[in-house]
Amino acid sequence: MKEQILKQYFGYDTFRPLQAEIIDWVSAGNDCMVLMPTGGGKSVCYQVPALMTEGLTIVVSPLIALMKDQVQALRGNGVGAAYLNSTLSSSEQYAIERQCYAGEIKLLYIAPEKLLTPSCMDFVRRLKVNLLAVDESHCVSVWGHDFRPEYTQLHVLKTAFPDLPMIALTATADRVTRRDVLKQLGIPDARVFEASFDRPNLSLNVLPGRNRIKVIEQFIHDHPNQSGIIYCLARKTTEDIALKLRAKGINARFYHAKMPAEERSAVQDAFLRDDVQVMVATVAFGMGIDKSNVRWIIHYNMPSNVESFYQEIGRAGRDGLKSTTMLFYSFADWIMRRDMIENSELPQHMKDIQFAKLDRMKQYAEADHCRRRILLSYFNETVERDCGNCDVCRNPRSKFDATVSAQKALSAIARTDQKIAMGMLVDVLRGSHNRSVTERGYDKIKTFGVGRDLRAEEWAEYLTQMLNSGVMDVAYDEAHSLKLNEISWRVLRGERKVELVRFESYEEKRKRQEEQ
Ligand code: ADP
Ligand code: ZN
Repeated sequence: MKEQILKQYFGYDTFRPLQAEIIDWVSAGNDCMVLMPTGGGKSVCYQVPALMTEGLTIVVSPLIALMKDQVQALRGNGVGAAYLNSTLSSSEQYAIERQCYAGEIKLLYIAPEKLLTPSCMDFVRRLKVNLLAVDESHCVSVWGHDFRPEYTQLHVLKTAFPDLPMIALTATADRVTRRDVLKQLGIPDARVFEASFDRPNLSLNVLPGRNRIKVIEQFIHDHPNQSGIIYCLARKTTEDIALKLRAKGINARFYHAKMPAEERSAVQDAFLRDDVQVMVATVAFGMGIDKSNVRWIIHYNMPSNVESFYQEIGRAGRDGLKSTTMLFYSFADWIMRRDMIENSELPQHMKDIQFAKLDRMKQYAEADHCRRRILLSYFNETVERDCGNCDVCRNPRSKFDATVSAQKALSAIARTDQKIAMGMLVDVLRGSHNRSVTERGYDKIKTFGVGRDLRAEEWAEYLTQMLNSGVMDVAYDEAHSLKLNEISWRVLRGERKVELVRFESYEEKRKRQEEQ
């Protein structure tokens, strides 16, 4: 039955990994969360169940700009679909409501702020609903990278329809965010379906943030006719770079949110048609764009968190062919991002989350470990081997056996009940008698002071490497305390070695990068 619907309405013969399982699970009346990278095929997971039973499916989605396209695509496939958001006139809205009552609509997309109005809630209560879908569900959580306050009331959905299954979907959410999303939506025990986030065809590269324009020009010159996107932080930068590239005869255009809408869709279409080779854009560009042959992504500036970074590089190589990603990084970029967070209007606890996420991004940029392992461990995938397709793997720095140091650190984490953050762990390992350590009695534990052989900055570096390579985890929602995982215990039991890259001062590191 589900295969038939997939064929009839979407034209596909087979399901992608997990899709069939998810559809069965949801159709049996169960709640779940679906984690799949962008382009993985999340929509089918609720669209097929919507068509399998009587009634309609409510899809909550914050992306008003995309709703119209999604609905049009569904209608084009012969699926009764409609959307409700603030852009509709009251007569348009009335017409849609009538169609819903008449049973002509199978998928009803609603913007969260619209849904939460009393009149809209009244309306949906009167409908025959078969499934609740929450797209971009990471927006529910303050721990996510794109928190939307209007999403926080969405638990009313499960309250209004306690017997209906709910499916929450997202492309990016670390463990803390996932747990929080499920709690916020009122489905704490929902099963989590997790597709692999690995994109082995993307090569990952970080370059020192010097002579950026020159490096980009050379890269484009070496890859003629390959289309790509250069992401910049500021609108002005997109215009400047596009101008400079054009002066060199490169077919480049810019794109940002402050351009008139017609201009934006004109350049976007030109890029999709391959009439423009290079798009220099802010992150406003790319949402919902389905172009399979983007061959490279360059980040002119460092993104503010790993989730955004992953989503942006994920726009390259959708066709599965080899594609390149490059991130320019300088310490100054990090400072600039910090200032942006500091000067934002966010409350302090939100700023702290943003700082922590930014620091993980910086660790990625500065890492001496396989970058893919860092990315995947961020999304909670365990990888046992280096990827061979990142700059670190191609230019490895020699590692040393750091198992004993790692065991000291992990054992200290265990003996402090996994309640301490990195700073305090370093104090405990180095045997510092400061107040917060002694107050908690950590100066009495067996591992107190066992790490005096290393300086504090060396410990900070090694602990970061351990985190990056998945030897331990961090819980942002528990004051950034370090947590032991499967691998940690294997290291503690002596079943697994830990290899780390020797500590380098910032000066040493810079010198080495310049020589490369
Ligand atoms: P996501 O929402 O996860 O970013 P979409 O649901 O938009 O991804 O799907 C991405 C693309 O994959 C779409 O073009 C969709 O039609 C296609 N797709 C989804 N499921 C299948 C399938 N089973 N077989 C082939 N193509 C699929
Ligand atoms: Zn690698």
